Amino acid sequence: MKRKGILVVVSGFSGAGKGTLMKQLVKSYDTYALSVSMTTRNPRSGETDGKEYFFVSKDTFEKEIARGGLVEYAQYCGNYYGTPKEYVEKQLEHGKDVILEIEIQGALKIKEKFPSALLLFVTPPSVKELKRRLSGRGTETEDVINARLARAGEEAEGIEKYDYLVINDDLDTCVAQMHALIQGAHNAPLRNEEFIETIRTQLKELAKGEN
Ligand code: ADP
Ligand code: 5GP
Repeated sequence: MKRKGILVVVSGFSGAGKGTLMKQLVKSYDTYALSVSMTTRNPRSGETDGKEYFFVSKDTFEKEIARGGLVEYAQYCGNYYGTPKEYVEKQLEHGKDVILEIEIQGALKIKEKFPSALLLFVTPPSVKELKRRLSGRGTETEDVINARLARAGEEAEGIEKYDYLVINDDLDTCVAQMHALIQGAHNAPLRNEEFIETIRTQLKELAKGEN
């Protein structure tokens, strides 16, 4: 039986280490495909169009919404972010576990559309460490950092809506834990409905034959 891919949503406070974790996860195991989002925010130094994001204008983004080309989209700290549909659908068909590194509004939309999606929430071990990582990244102004920390306070209210909390203390340990959680999730009954139906049908046929 060909294994189907799972849609894995990874959210977490800005600076929690999601991007770093996801790069490491995809590098370490070949079962994952990382979705590249579309955004209207400006590229940070070191970011390349098509790699971290597809960087587009507001006009282009709104045209993409109208065309129905996004699985979900949301606004975050004044910019649009969205998940292109085509890549996600193709990779799932190929049996890959597709990772969407998105914020909470998008995560909840995904859960609504795809109830079998797995939702993971990444936090650093403490808020002190969060501030250290966010400032240490050196890519945002103090105003932007403060806006993101304020947003983190709002996002923290939604953590219970996720399936698992993942604490990113030591990076390698955290990557291994995420891999174990995702692979374990493949065995949940709600992600194996077809298999369960087949087994039930076979058992019924067996019972009929014996009677
Ligand atoms: P996010 O994508 O969640 O906004 P990043 O992946 O950009 O976060 O990480 C924010 C900063 O924290 C980066 O400078 C990154 O190198 C650092 N970082 C990520 N994970 C860890 C970790 N486990 N320990 C220490 N620093 C980390
Ligand atoms: P950043 O600007 O730090 O790259 O991302 C800001 C926030 O937007 C992060 O919480 C990130 O997970 C989220 N994000 C990135 N891509 C998407 C997307 O396609 N959809 C949604 N809803 N959020 C996204």
